[in-house]
Amino acid sequence: MSVSFTRRNILSGAAAGLSSLVLPSLVHAQAGAAHVVVVGGGFGGATAARYLRLHAPQVRITLIEPEKRFYTCPFSNMYLAGLRSWDSIGHSFDGLRAAGIEVVHALAENVDASTRTIKLSTGQTLRWDRLVLSPGVDMRWNALEGYDAAAAELAPHAWKAGEQTRLLRRQLETMPDGGIFVMAIPENPFRCPPGPYERAAMVAHYFKQHKPRSKILLLDAKDNFSKQALFQQGWKALYGDMIEWVKQSDDGQVMRVDAKALEVETAFGTRHKANVLNVIPPQKAGFIAERAGVANASGWVPVKADSFESTQVKDIFVLGDATIAAPMPKSGFAANTQAKMAAAVIAADLLGRDKPVPSYANTCYSLIGPGYGISVAGVYRTENGKIVEPAGSGGVSPLDSNAAYRASEARYGEAWYAAMSADIWDR
Ligand code: FAD
Repeated sequence: MSVSFTRRNILSGAAAGLSSLVLPSLVHAQAGAAHVVVVGGGFGGATAARYLRLHAPQVRITLIEPEKRFYTCPFSNMYLAGLRSWDSIGHSFDGLRAAGIEVVHALAENVDASTRTIKLSTGQTLRWDRLVLSPGVDMRWNALEGYDAAAAELAPHAWKAGEQTRLLRRQLETMPDGGIFVMAIPENPFRCPPGPYERAAMVAHYFKQHKPRSKILLLDAKDNFSKQALFQQGWKALYGDMIEWVKQSDDGQVMRVDAKALEVETAFGTRHKANVLNVIPPQKAGFIAERAGVANASGWVPVKADSFESTQVKDIFVLGDATIAAPMPKSGFAANTQAKMAAAVIAADLLGRDKPVPSYANTCYSLIGPGYGISVAGVYRTENGKIVEPAGSGGVSPLDSNAAYRASEARYGEAWYAAMSADIWDR
């Protein structure tokens, strides 16, 4: 990779800036010279790069991602349970390279929309005609008093898959039988609404096998949660009273964390001491969103419903967890379908084709125990500039299903993971 202030790119970039005004045919003729830079090699970014390559083989695509191997949050709870190896949830970028995408292992540090440039941690500056950001989430350090990056080394969030997840697994392994695992759960919006409750089930599975006298205490900043009735039914059926959930109005909201003492304090002043403390703090869009000027005061990124282009900065598209896309959840599946739409829109724009009709989808499978799966699904379209979920289109698995149904959902979850991995990284 080299700094791309070439005459050709400057010309194509300048033309792209004027495309909707006076020079559409010139821009389309020069689509081959267009450069799309994608930040983030996770669910949204890697999908966008791959699908843009399919739609527009002539466009230059550069993917910026610091990690050489991407470990997924999906199925990281199964790793905690001992049901998955660490290797099995890691994915390389070789497939994307083989597809003709330039992959640069660096952190994007700054974006200048006026000059259409992005600065990388390697010192390189790249010029872009379209920029796609899918940086995921950052933790809001100190939103819970005392919980910062140093505290996370003692009381891991494990809400980005990587060293944090491995640390939490090691802590579970060394915890004494009869100990207590405490999890602090944030209010909405946050990454993966069903994730904490699946994690509780997966930790319970591990305890049932290895530390059956242990307890799990969930302290929640909300009064209800995704797939609640299904989770509570499954927890009871498989783990009896091992999991206790305390809702916000019953004094579930954690306000302060003492990571050294492995203690939390709730809004009503109750203190809970843990043997293993898992704090999932409030979150916001990955920092590059703010530096690119696309995040608003909420810390998240408003986007156009039909394209996922930023409402604040033209030609910057933002995907996945970083965005305000409700009623779509912050999920890997959602990021994947948003990326496919954005890629089609960018290709149509660069190649002078008709814009695609927007439609999105999501299914989140959760595993409660081996052979016991549940799910929530949604399909989405746009109406008056907003994402909507047509009435009766989605839903959750039926309550009180039989064992065969739960076993099928567990298998569908495995198949979803394999299909998604192949769609994005592993081909
Ligand atoms: P990510 O996939 O996190 O990708 C962001 C990437 O951007 C990262 O690789 C990061 O290194 C990179 N990045 C960040 N900043 C920069 C920068 N400045 N420069 C360069 N690169 C940068 N979703 C599901 O659909 N199904 C599930 O079963 C599921 N289970 C989950 C379980 C858990 C425990 C958790 C925590 C989440 C789960 N999710 C699940 C949610 C899913 O992980 C996220 O919704 C998804 O990863 C969002 O995709 P993204 O592209 O927005 O972010």
